[in-house]
Amino acid sequence: MKKAAIIGAGIGGLAAAHELEKQGYEVTIYEKGKNAGGLAGGFYHENWDWSVEFFYHHWFQSDKAILNLMKELGLRDKVRFFRPKTVMYHQGGFSPLDSAGAVLTFPGFSFFEKMRFGFVTVYIRYLANWHTLENCTAHAWLLKYYGEKIYRINFEPMLHGKFGEYYQQVPMSWFWARFKARSSMLGTYVGGFQAFFDDFVKKLIEKDVSIQFNSSVEKIAQYAGNKVTVQVNNQEILYDKVLVTTSPVSFAALTPDLPKEYKQKIFQSKSIGAIVLLLSITHPLSKEKYYWYNLPKSKEFPFLSLVEHTNFLSPDNFGGNHLLYCGDYLPPDHEYFNLSKEELIDRFTPSLQKINRDFKKDWIKESWLFKQSYAQPIPFLNHSKNILGIKTPLKNVFLITMSQVYPWDRGTNYAVELVEKSLDEILTED
Ligand SMILES: Cc1cc2nc3c(=O)[nH]c(=O)nc-3n(C[C@H](O)[C@H](O)[C@H](O)COP(=O)(O)OP(=O)(O)OC[C@H]3O[C@@H](n4cnc5c(N)ncnc54)[C@H](O)[C@@H]3O)c2cc1C
Repeated sequence: MKKAAIIGAGIGGLAAAHELEKQGYEVTIYEKGKNAGGLAGGFYHENWDWSVEFFYHHWFQSDKAILNLMKELGLRDKVRFFRPKTVMYHQGGFSPLDSAGAVLTFPGFSFFEKMRFGFVTVYIRYLANWHTLENCTAHAWLLKYYGEKIYRINFEPMLHGKFGEYYQQVPMSWFWARFKARSSMLGTYVGGFQAFFDDFVKKLIEKDVSIQFNSSVEKIAQYAGNKVTVQVNNQEILYDKVLVTTSPVSFAALTPDLPKEYKQKIFQSKSIGAIVLLLSITHPLSKEKYYWYNLPKSKEFPFLSLVEHTNFLSPDNFGGNHLLYCGDYLPPDHEYFNLSKEELIDRFTPSLQKINRDFKKDWIKESWLFKQSYAQPIPFLNHSKNILGIKTPLKNVFLITMSQVYPWDRGTNYAVELVEKSLDEILTED
């Protein structure tokens, strides 16, 4: 029996294990953490019936690859879709801008702008070919076609908030993919994303896949006869195929034999990190039951996304408490990465009072802070020419990460799709 090792038990690693097991491989997954799920995982609390994601997560109805995988696993009936409200800031207030009806009533646009918004959005959604959009920046394209006002109110804060200093360099193809993929109905799993990962792990174990948690891979190296050694806990184990799902930079650190030019390509690619402060509060924050606030990142609102999880899922799942994420995308050297959660609470609470005047710090019962240095790859013009392939310079060592799913934005669905699309390449390498 041929042996495969998978580094990482995020969705990419689990999907790869599932596919390779079906091909008759003896599969071992090494995961440095104590659970599966990676970036999309979550945690449980003694007072909650459901888990909560470290970073807010949901699926779109268009997420075919992951929804089909769940169907194959017999888990699809645990997915639930809801339609929570997303709002945009305009002149001191927030209004929905997440449906045709919401555009018509949005206070910031004239009748002509509303029509323009509708026509351009329909045009992008039906545009089939993204290749022609990759040599034009989203900044230039959106400004030209939507016009100054719509761009400044709706798109610029989003682009700037997500990509910081690079926001005017991201290609329109990346933005096209967002328009294409996103639905207003958002999906989750009964019990939260972590419950899905735990169920997925059980299914893999039933198929004799071995999952070794708390096992950080230390080194990957080529061996004679196109075999590969993986070093874990100071032990070297020989494999026929090795699939790496860590960040490309971690892959470079784990694999000293990679050629210099290949490592340079890895180090030249750019990504951004994320921090999320999660608060459990005694009262709901949003009187209007808004789920997702797109904030105009500024002194007034010192982070990008305010997400009231319990306006998506019932507080009954969380012991009656209300859960609020304050999230931002930032370079890993940003000062927020060095602040404690108490310091971040002090920075963020004045903006919560702008949303709900009654909010007081003593509403906060518990808080958690999550940080991730590799959270969002940054694409530039003509990015498709610069993406790392699945095959690496080392025979039978493959790299499967969220930096390779472009033009799609990183997402669990695209990790599954990438695994499925790459299977032939993985299996046919000698
Ligand atoms: C803020 C935020 C919001 C997001 N929202 C959504 C959303 O709403 N919907 C959605 O579908 N996606 C969302 N995503 C994206 C989604 O989380 C990722 O696309 C997906 O989880 C990537 O999966 P992966 O398996 O490729 O990588 P990861 O989940 O990063 O998994 C890699 C795994 O490798 C392990 N590892 C690393 N080094 C080693 C080592 N040396 N040895 C062993 N194991 C190791 C890690 O512990 C980790 O578990 C979001 C991401 C962020 C940051």
